[in-house]
Amino acid sequence: MGTGGVSNERLAGAMNRYRTLSMWHDTVPGDDFTPRPSLPGDLDVDVCIVGAGYTGLWTAYYLKKADPSLRLAIVEKEIAGFGASGRNGGWCSPYFATAADKLAQAGTRDGAIALQREMLNTIAEVGRVCDDESIAADYHRGGTLTFARTPAQLVSVRAEFDHLSQWGFGDEDIQWLGAAEACARVAVTSVLGAIFSPHCARVHPAKLVRGLARVVESLGVPIYERTTVTDRTRGGVSTTAGHVKADVTVRATEGYTVALPQLHRALIPVYSLMLATEPLAEHVWEQIGWRGEECFSDGRRMLVYLARTADGRIAMGGRGAPYHFGSHIDARFEREPRVHGALYRELCELLPAVKGAAVTHRWGGPIGIARDWCSSVGFDRTLGDAWALGYVGDGVATSNLAGRTLADLITGRSTPLTALPWVGHHSQQWEPEPLRWIGVNAAQWLMAGVDKVETRTGKPSRRAKLIDRFVG
Ligand SMILES: Cc1cc2nc3c(=O)[nH]c(=O)nc-3n(C[C@H](O)[C@H](O)[C@H](O)COP(=O)(O)OP(=O)(O)OC[C@H]3O[C@@H](n4cnc5c(N)ncnc54)[C@H](O)[C@@H]3O)c2cc1C
Repeated sequence: MGTGGVSNERLAGAMNRYRTLSMWHDTVPGDDFTPRPSLPGDLDVDVCIVGAGYTGLWTAYYLKKADPSLRLAIVEKEIAGFGASGRNGGWCSPYFATAADKLAQAGTRDGAIALQREMLNTIAEVGRVCDDESIAADYHRGGTLTFARTPAQLVSVRAEFDHLSQWGFGDEDIQWLGAAEACARVAVTSVLGAIFSPHCARVHPAKLVRGLARVVESLGVPIYERTTVTDRTRGGVSTTAGHVKADVTVRATEGYTVALPQLHRALIPVYSLMLATEPLAEHVWEQIGWRGEECFSDGRRMLVYLARTADGRIAMGGRGAPYHFGSHIDARFEREPRVHGALYRELCELLPAVKGAAVTHRWGGPIGIARDWCSSVGFDRTLGDAWALGYVGDGVATSNLAGRTLADLITGRSTPLTALPWVGHHSQQWEPEPLRWIGVNAAQWLMAGVDKVETRTGKPSRRAKLIDRFVG
């Protein structure tokens, strides 16, 4: 028998399933993904954290640093890093899902700027912890490039640059590059200009989350794996392996939140899909350039995002997978030949030198989107209910900010972080089905259409306004 009374055969099957979740899982050295023991029975703690992704682990890390006497436990349905935290695009970026104007409307302009500034600090904070705790996560601060590749994209990317300037970002934060300067960084086709920002680090997501889990454990926080929370009540959670009595419960389940009781319409899980090439030959890198290892995207609406990995691959992701009726989550949705095929064609279109290189991995995972597109973090002391969710596709850095903020809120400290405008925000629920399915897939279809029209005509599409109205 293996861990928790599971037969060795089933255990080996599970470990193989975890390793093949993504290219990142497949390339974590010295980790065979043996699950940690499940919850052995009923338990009594101060804080129970549901989910061992970045949000849950960062929260545990900062709580323990703030008050080592706190009794914490993490319960995880699968293994640490099973979710989006192990599978993402590796952009540890200061992008925050909620637009600054919207944050200012809900609070103040100063509050919105303070949040953006704190996101910039967060990139350095993730690097600091990796250094201090010896987490070898391939952290490399190369910045971001947003290319404009059509006349319409030039209008929107330039508008984004002007918008950021109005929000107090100066030369040290963003620079406009002309076509030649932009191409000299990465030999992307059809480039008309680009925004460069130095504030982004490329990480190896699975090395980060698996390393963080080990650090948190070494601080005395048990992680009970293959233990599913089935119900939440005031004063704790019920799981498949016993009851956890806790003064505070932290919901750190992001896209998977929809499976928890009463939270079915709190957000929607939308799949982002990725692929990775084999490590590219040096002569290919000579054609591409990309020596700065920036993370990059372009100005299209159906986002694509690319990173150069430390072992010389290209990891590329994008949207375009359908939203599944009833917010259904299923491993089958992680590999969609139509979307993965389109991603590969886009990759070759962006960087023709890649043609001929093998694609070694294809995978995907759910991101969580709130109805008003606002990320939120909060703590209701009366109910003992803490949460952080709705990062859209920007959770690598945001989850660190969430963890630090939750630690302050739970330990009752009033700090600049607890005053930021996303704290205590409540998004409205998503519509019931079939409205949700029709609306979300219609918006996706519109976005893809806008990209096609703008590429063909070179002009900004009027349909874009419709989408903006839908996503708020
Ligand atoms: C393909 C992809 C690419 C992305 N790229 C980027 C990027 O480049 N940059 C960026 O900033 N963000 C990116 N994101 C988003 C980012 O990865 C997430 O926002 C972030 O990892 C969320 O972390 P989390 O800990 O909140 O959630 P998760 O990592 O999803 O963790 C939630 C955990 O909760 C567990 N769980 C769920 N239900 C239960 C239950 N009932 N009981 C117990 N445990 C439960 C799950 O098993 C899971 O391990 C991407 C996401 C995806 C899917």
